Amino acid sequence: MLSEPIRECALCPRLTQYRADNRREQPSWHNAPVPSFGGLDARILVVGLAPGLKGANRTGRPFTGDYAGDLLYSTLSRYGLARGTYAADAADGFTMVDCRITNAARCAPPANKPLPTEFAACRPFLAAEIAAMSNLRGIFSLGRGSHDQVLSTLGLRKMAYPFGHGRVHHLPSGLILTDSYHCSRYNTNTGRLTEAMFHQAMDCLLTALTSY
Ligand code: SF4
Repeated sequence: MLSEPIRECALCPRLTQYRADNRREQPSWHNAPVPSFGGLDARILVVGLAPGLKGANRTGRPFTGDYAGDLLYSTLSRYGLARGTYAADAADGFTMVDCRITNAARCAPPANKPLPTEFAACRPFLAAEIAAMSNLRGIFSLGRGSHDQVLSTLGLRKMAYPFGHGRVHHLPSGLILTDSYHCSRYNTNTGRLTEAMFHQAMDCLLTALTSY
């Protein structure tokens, strides 16, 4: 049985206060834990860090409505992991194909940076999600923070699986963890991540899965 955070989840006092402030300022926004997107029967789980304030926190769907979503969803479409026309709106009819997207922390944090205690508080939800995905074979982690949270959730040592863009980790459970730099506007504007590099990281995951 999948355990999901309730809309009024108050396990993180700072994020709960931030949510209340955002509800006051933007009452039409989602302003709540953002549910994952895609079926629990998917083979691939994409794990981001936390909802963007004006993206997922506004629209209620992971990576929807901000710059990171443009690159992520165009990439998923390119690889047949999404179907439809992405229009940066949770009601655009866009769907995932054998892929699900979640965040290590489900609530938008100030300055896009969850605290370690907030990741820890939200970890049981990610653990429950992974446990509920019976067909899960590959995890695509967006950024070092997400990579670290996936390892913590799975009870694995970070030293044993160092983060690296395009790096493929074969985990003891048989899961394949592949890392990418986060597809944020900052990373693409600074040239740390190009579209080609992002595609290359996804290639690494899909190639590893075909020889699974
Ligand atoms: S980040 Fe997770 S644990 Fe913290 S308040 Fe939001 S849903 Fe609850």
